[in-house]
Order: sequence, then C-alpha cells, then structure tokens
Amino acid sequence: MSQKSGSQHSNAQPLGAATRLIHAGVPPLRDGTGPVNVPVVRTSTVRFADTATHADVHHRRATGERVAGYGRHGLDTHQALEDAVTELEGGHRAFLAPSGLAAISLTLLALLAPGDHALVADNVYAPVRRVDDGLLKRIGITLEYFSPGHDELAALIRPNTKLVYLESPSSLLFEVIDLPALAAIAAARGITVVADNTWSGGWFYKPLSLGANVVVQAATKYIAGHSDLMQGIVVVDSPALAAKLTSAYESLGLTIGADDAYLSLRGIRTLPVRLAQHQRHATLVAKALQKHAQVARVFYPALPEDPGHALWQRDFSGASGLVSFELKEGDVSVANAFIDALQHFGIGASWGGYESLALIAPPERLAAYRTWNSAQPVVRLHIGLEDPQDLIADVQQALAKAAAVWAAQKQSLLPA
Ligand SMILES: *Cc1c(COP(=O)(O)O)cnc(C)c1O
Repeated sequence: MSQKSGSQHSNAQPLGAATRLIHAGVPPLRDGTGPVNVPVVRTSTVRFADTATHADVHHRRATGERVAGYGRHGLDTHQALEDAVTELEGGHRAFLAPSGLAAISLTLLALLAPGDHALVADNVYAPVRRVDDGLLKRIGITLEYFSPGHDELAALIRPNTKLVYLESPSSLLFEVIDLPALAAIAAARGITVVADNTWSGGWFYKPLSLGANVVVQAATKYIAGHSDLMQGIVVVDSPALAAKLTSAYESLGLTIGADDAYLSLRGIRTLPVRLAQHQRHATLVAKALQKHAQVARVFYPALPEDPGHALWQRDFSGASGLVSFELKEGDVSVANAFIDALQHFGIGASWGGYESLALIAPPERLAAYRTWNSAQPVVRLHIGLEDPQDLIADVQQALAKAAAVWAAQKQSLLPA
C-alpha cells in the first residue's frame, strides 16, 4: 500500500519486511487526509443503512468475507491488527483471541474432532497440557507427546492422526526443532502442523514458510511488548483452514476489545527494533553467564555452543530476549537465592515486555522433556531493554550471593 494514496505499490523492487509491517493495516486516506493510526472503534452494534445492506453483509460473511455484522466480529481496529499479524507471519488470515492460551485452545478445538489423534511436542508451553489432558480428552480426542529431538514422529503417526503441535525453540530450554523435517513427514500424510511462534514474536522466525500450516502466538509477549495486555493470535495459511477457524471462533463467541487491538498495533510497529535490542542485550548476558564459574550450561540458540545453534542459523534470522541457565552446584533453594538477590529483574512470568524478568524453570516441567536429564536447577531470564552492563553486573552479584548460600549449606551438612 502506498502511504500517500492508499493504492497498491507498483515499484518493481520487493518491499522489505519492516516496511511491510510498518504499513500493514494503516487506514487509507479519506478525502485526502487521515490519521497515521487506525482509530479505536469500540462498538457492540453495527448499524446498516437499510435492511438490504443488513442482509447483504450477513450473506457476505456467510461466504467467508471479512466484514463485520456485529461488534463481536471486530471492526476497523481489529481488522487492522489482523492485517498486520497476517503480514507478520506471512499467512492467509488471522484470528484474535483474548489470550495466547485461548488462541491455542481455539486452534485445537477448531482442527480436531472426537476420535482424532494429535501429536504434541513434549517441550511446549506447559499449560497446553492442561488443554490437552482436560478439555480435549474429555471430548474424545487423543493426545500423545513426542520428543521432537528424537527421530520418532513418523513412527507415532496413526491413521487418525490429524495434527502435530510444536513450539520452536521450546519453552524453558529453547531447544530448536527441525520444523521443515517434521512438517515434511506430516505433509506427506495430510496432517496439519501448528507452531507456537511466541519466542520470536513472528519477526525472527517464519514457521508458515517452513512447512507449518497454522501459527499461534501469545501477542501478550513481544507483539504487545509493554506488559500491559493479554492477547493471542492465530494465523492460518489457507482458506480451508480459515473456514474451520472461523466456525470455531464464532461458536466460542471469541473477540477482543478494540483498545487491546489498538495496543497491539502500537506494539507491532516497533517489534523489529525492540527485538533487535533484546537480542543484543540477551547475547551479552548469555556470554557473561557462559564465562561464569557457577554456571554449567547456558541455553540460548544464538550461542555457537548451544545444541540448536546450527538449526537456528539455518531457520531463524535472530534470537529474542529469553536466556536460561543451569547452575553447576546447589539446589532449587540456591537458584531461588539467586533470583531473590537480583535487583533489576522482576520475578514473574509473561516475558516479552521491555523489562527484565527472572523465574525458576519448574523442575516438574523440565522432567516432562525427554531430552532433559539433569537434576540441577535452571533459571529462566527475560533480558529487557535496560542497559546490558547493569543487567550483567546484577546477575554477577546475585550469583555471588547464591554461591555464599550454597557454601553455607555445604558447611552445615559437614559432620561436626
Ligand atoms: C505465554 C505463552 C503462551 C500463553 O500466552 P498467554 O497470553 O499468557 O495466555 C503460549 N505460548 C507460549 C510459548 C508462551 O510463552
């Protein structure tokens, strides 16, 4: 779209990804003028000029056209965000959900029916298991977990397998998955591949171009980017999948508020620049952690020593702000002493904002990963946009305090 006229861009040179993202969903000028940003259109009722228009809109909706007949369908602000995230993920159509988890549940409910079987990577965002083991099992859908690092997907596929669900890099340890290889196995059998792309914010990783059919994201994280809203997106790659998602979306009565759609649009315009900075800072912190005597391993795929580094280099264009590390010595209480000693990191979940956060990687969640075989505690950091030298100094002083706690514990365990 041309910024000036709102008409189609006609230059021969293809536009860069940031240019397209910055201008996606920007409203066309009316009578030669208009705001930069789409207005926040809050409404329950959509009004029609006459009954024929009313009937026409409902008919067009029934044939799959994206036109609002009611507030729940979302008007200008919602459609602008749908356009922006469709552009971001390189898909066909987007759906906006009230949280990342709602986007995941919506997708699974839309694409699976009683009697179906689905294969879920064992290292996905843990609350997905609650959807799987509760809601889906109850309606006769069978879920089975596979270890994406082990070469076992093909062997686990059954005649009724309809869906493969994965997240790359995985939650907590950021294991990079060979999506093209897994997607090829699924595609040969007509199985839909769903990828959670929250880690990259959709900017550093394009699962739909690597064989996934559906992308879900917690827009709560990097798209919103300011820790001030909950939101999920689903982007599908085909009209057939869009029809299935539309049906489930409308049946569940899902929608989001126009103000939240606006905030995500505001966030998405700076996604590339924020993520570049998260990457720069996280790489510095990860390298400082690698050098530290108390750190056994650092999990960050941009590090050459990370086991997923080669795949990451092949399939990703960058790394985000999440860094985990394993303590060489000490138990969970020592890891908690480290977290409590941090001064510039908040303690909490829902990373993706501008601020740094720290949290223990719950051992029971790591135990569900077949690739994980250590008893040592893991701490997950979200590296924010603060000055990296302050974050590094903070991590180092907190590791020193944790070391003192561990030394005192060892001392007290010695026989008197
Ligand atoms: C946070 C998160 C979700 C869930 O998003 P909410 O908006 O918190 O419901 C889903 N997947 C991943 C990978 C996440 O980190």
